[in-house]
Amino acid sequence: MGKAQQVKNVGIPGINPPDKICNDPKCPWHGNVRVRGMILEGVVVSDKMKNTVVVRRDYYYYDKKYRRYEKRHSKIHAHNPPCINAKVGDIVIIGETRPLAKTVSFVVLGIKGRASEVKK
Ligand SMILES: [Zn+2]
Repeated sequence: MGKAQQVKNVGIPGINPPDKICNDPKCPWHGNVRVRGMILEGVVVSDKMKNTVVVRRDYYYYDKKYRRYEKRHSKIHAHNPPCINAKVGDIVIIGETRPLAKTVSFVVLGIKGRASEVKK
C-alpha cells in the first residue's frame, strides 16, 4: 500500500508508472504537476538540457486548397522527470500541464519504445 500512496494515478489508461521514485515537484507521478489537456506521442531528439527534452512529433496536415496531405512536424519541449530520464531516440508519451517553464508546458509520462531512426 505504501507505493500506492506515493505514486499518483495520472488518469491516462495504458501508461504505467515508472519503476523509480523521484522527489521532483514537477514530476507527474511523484510531484504536484497534473496532466490535463492533450496527450501526444513523439520521439526525443535532444536531451542536452537538464530535466527537459525536445520531442519531435510527425503528423499529416490536410491542405484544403491542394486537397492532399502534407507531412509536417513540430518540436515540443517537455519536462523530463529523473524517474523517467528519457534519452534521444526514446518514443515517449507526453501530457499537457500548466506551464512549467517559459517554453515547457508538457511533461514526459513514460517511454513507449525506441525509434529505429532519429530525424532532427
Ligand atoms: Zn518521478
